[in-house]
Amino acid sequence: MTVLPIIKGEETEVLRTKAATVLQVTKEILKLIKNMEETVKKAEGLGLAAPQIGQSVRVCLVMLHGKMTPMINPEITWRSEEATVMTEGCLSLPKIEVEVTRPVEVIVKYTNKKGQEQERRLHDLDAKVMQHEFDHLNGVLIVDYQ
Ligand code: ZN
Repeated sequence: MTVLPIIKGEETEVLRTKAATVLQVTKEILKLIKNMEETVKKAEGLGLAAPQIGQSVRVCLVMLHGKMTPMINPEITWRSEEATVMTEGCLSLPKIEVEVTRPVEVIVKYTNKKGQEQERRLHDLDAKVMQHEFDHLNGVLIVDYQ
């Protein structure tokens, strides 16, 4: 496993590109996830998206109930009307903090490492982190909420 450098900068192309759908959970995707797990652990982050290590594919890690959960091709299928403000940081934007308003609850669908479809309802911090990582897959950064 390898700790990879985290791509930084709000104008960096890979961070501003809509990432590609994963067609199949290949060995390469599993290796990417392993490296992302090592990288986010070292960085002490709550989540990480593949574009942040220079891979423009729809894979992210989200800390859910204290467990780093890999999500392949995540989709948000429902968002609560209730939204709250949270101060967010980003491993790709050091020293920047932004007050971001997001729904407090979401339902997400994604593929897990075994290629199985999963559906989960997320609340509070779990929901916020997931939405932050999901934004990365669409080239959106917290500075866009300013
Ligand atoms: Zn981020």
